[in-house]
Parts: sequence; C-alpha cells; structure tokens
Amino acid sequence: MSGPASGALEKLQALDHEAYLLERVSAILSWDQETGMPDRAVGERAEQLSLMQGLTHERSTDPRIGELLEAAETEARTDLDRDFLREKRRRYEKATRLPTALVRELAETASLGHNAWVEARKADDFGRFAPILGKLIDLNRQVADHLGWEVTPYDPLLDQYEPYATTAEVRETFTKLRDGLVPLVQAIAAAQQVDDSALVGVFPVAAQEEFSREVMVALGYDLDRGRLDRSAHPFTTTLGSHDVRITTRYDEARPAPALFSTIHETGHALYELGIGEEIRGGVLAEGTSLGIHESQSRMWENIVGRSRPFWAHWFPRLQARFPEALDGVNLDTFYRAINRVEPSLIRVDADEVTYSLHVILRFELEQELIEGRLAVEDLPAAWNDRMERFLGIRPPSDALGVLQDVHWSMGAFGYFPTYALGNLYSAQIYRVYKRENPQATAQIEAGDTAPLLAWLRDRIHRWGRRKSASELIEDISGEPLNPEYFLEYLREKYREIYTL
Ligand code: ZN
Repeated sequence: MSGPASGALEKLQALDHEAYLLERVSAILSWDQETGMPDRAVGERAEQLSLMQGLTHERSTDPRIGELLEAAETEARTDLDRDFLREKRRRYEKATRLPTALVRELAETASLGHNAWVEARKADDFGRFAPILGKLIDLNRQVADHLGWEVTPYDPLLDQYEPYATTAEVRETFTKLRDGLVPLVQAIAAAQQVDDSALVGVFPVAAQEEFSREVMVALGYDLDRGRLDRSAHPFTTTLGSHDVRITTRYDEARPAPALFSTIHETGHALYELGIGEEIRGGVLAEGTSLGIHESQSRMWENIVGRSRPFWAHWFPRLQARFPEALDGVNLDTFYRAINRVEPSLIRVDADEVTYSLHVILRFELEQELIEGRLAVEDLPAAWNDRMERFLGIRPPSDALGVLQDVHWSMGAFGYFPTYALGNLYSAQIYRVYKRENPQATAQIEAGDTAPLLAWLRDRIHRWGRRKSASELIEDISGEPLNPEYFLEYLREKYREIYTL
C-alpha cells in the first residue's frame, strides 16, 4: 500500500497512546490530591488539572483523528484492529458532537453545583441546591440533544457510563428486580433480626491496615503494581498499565467498612490489572462498562467476601489480629453479623439485599427529571414517597434523603443504574463459574481464590473494551442479562440466615 493514506492506523495508534498517557497524568494529579497533597496546594492543583483536561479535550477532538479514522478503515487486518477502530470512532464522534462551550459550561456549573450541594447538605436545605440542580438538568438535556436520541434523552446519558445499554432494557430489568426484592425485604423485616454487636469494639487501625493488605495480596493483587493508601472516600485509580492504586478509610470502632471496601476496590483493581497485554496503553485498555466493572468489585466483596466459605478460612486469621475484640465470637455469629439486612436511609451503607432498591429509586427519579416529568421542587417529596414504597421508611430530613449523594451535584445523570447492574452481572457470572468449576466452594474454603481470578481474567479482564457488556455476558453465560440469578442468589443465602 502507498500514497497519503498509508500508515494511518499506526499514526492513529500513536495518537491514541498519547491520549492514554495524558489521561493517566491527570489521574496522578487527582490521586495525589486525594491522598497526600498539602491544603495550600489546592488552587494551583485545580489550575494544573484544568490545563490537563483542556489539552486532553483538544487532542481528543483533533480533526486529524477524523481523517485518520477514514483512511485506517482499509488498513485494518485483524479483529483487534477493527475493535480498536470501532472504539476510537465511538469516542471521537461523541467528543466532537458536544460544543466546547457546552462542555465548559457543564464543568463550571458542576463545580459550583458541588459546592452548593456541600452547603445544602450541611444546612439540610434542599432549596439552596435546587436552582443549580435545575441548571445541571437543563445542561444535561442539551448534552443529550447534541449526542442524539430517539426514545428518551436519558438514553445518551446512560450510554456515557454503560455503553450500548438502553433505558428501556434497563427499566424492564429493574422492574423485575424491584418486584423480586420488595417482598424479600418485607420477609426479612418480619423475621428475627440478626445480632451484629460482634462488629463493634476496639479494632486498632494499624492492625486493620495490615489485615487489609494481607487479604488484598491473597486475592491476587500485586503490590509491585499498586499500593494501598488512605482517603476520605475509598476509590481505585489507574495510573498506568502496571500502576493501579486503591484507597480506603478506617474506623477504629468498626472494622467491617474498611475490610469490605478494600475487598471491593481490590475487585476493581484486579480487573484493570488483568487487561490483556495486546491492548494495554490505549483506548481499549479499560473496563467495558461501569456495570461490568461493578460486577467485579461486588463479586469479590459480596458473593465471595461475605460468604461462609471465605470466612471459614479468614475468620481465624481475623480473630488472631483482634484477639480481645473478637474473644468468644464464633464463625457463625460473625458470618450472620456481616450479612445483617436492614432497610436504611443511606445508599452507601446499605446491605446487598436493599442496595439495589436505593439505585432503582434514583434511576426512576433521574429519568423523570431529564424527561421533564418531575419538577425539581417536587423532587424531595417524590424521593421520600418512593423510599416509603420500596423500603418502608421515610427520611426525616433531606440531608438523609435526596441530598445524600454527590453524583447529581457533579452533573452526572445516568451513572446510578450501573451500581445495580453490577450486582446482576456478578450473580449471573458467578453462577457460570460455579457450574464450570465444581471445586469453587472448597477452594475458597481453603483460601485459594487463584482459580477464580484466572477464570475472570480469561473471560472478562483481558478483553477490556473489545467486547461490549452484552457481548461479554452472552459469551460467558449464553444468554442476555437476567435479574433472576441475582434474586435466586439472595433468596437462597438469606433464607438460611433469616430462617425464612
Ligand atoms: Zn465500585
């Protein structure tokens, strides 16, 4: 091949790798800001991050990319080339459809929105947040119009976090999920409550940190390719192909939150660290969707990490770390305590049974807001009514209700459903794993999760963005996403714990 078009694919790949590097540099700045930056660096760090974001946006909308994409089509030789071009084109088209002025206005409004939300939550005054929330909804509608939609403007917003998913599909799935969860929550509420007093006491932070590290490493996290630090909110961030870091937070009186959030974040990190070598350092080197990402964190945290076999191995080790606090506590008491179910007001503190109902509530409300069927001033009442319908409790204040989450204040609409999709994917995937590996439970009981990790690497991690979420779940389980498997998992587990 010759002429001006030749080598377009290679040029595109080189530009793509630079875009990847730029994004990782921004990630390092953000990680530093969350973990160890001195307070007085805040202003200049904001300037540094904003400059980096500007550069990244400029690069990602460079018209050269459009030309190279055209020219490279005829050069694609392998499936890998074609997957790369598909994903690159998808990103480029999205980025160029949004006018720069709108992107900038959304970023600025989100920054103001975040501050207004912090103030409103502190004062328990939704009225302080309402005007800017209205503006963020309006800007998101404009984003949806630019990105294009046919059925609902919520579709392109959802697609930003869960590529190729549609609102109609998710709604249908969530309706089945909700109809299965509500009676289960009611049955548990009517049963004898589990005693979780064993989870409160004095658990020195240094020992919690050592134990967290021991568990992470045992699950397959490589400390040569990452690290564990502390931050106000736990997160995982990818700073490079061999640098995926985790943070957590500790509470001396309660070891469970740090322990389970560390396992959760380890699940995210194992996914990122398992990306195939052939796609590292470019646009395909990411989890395929937030829902699939969340399926990995939740599988390790809940299906594995809150199971009896897992603690058959780990509880004696935990007890050895905290001999006084866990004196006289047995495995069964501990297992029940970490699986206590109770309808509560705050999503991030919710157990695995009630959690998805918190998400479905937000999914329904944000759709109504974006579609203009719900006015901002009616939002708090709508929130409280739905909490009562789904969970049987009514928030006594907006701080404990509609003002609890950060997402809307940052202009993120369409993000919430990915959390519950993660639960559903995790159960469907794990069911296949157990069928294919009859030794699964015995291995976990023996503290050996390496076979599970190897299986996830092969079926999910190495593919990165080469497969969509729906292709992935079809390839693994032979059918589309089906909420019945998650419901089945919950019913079986909690029937035993609560003698239902
Ligand atoms: Zn997560």
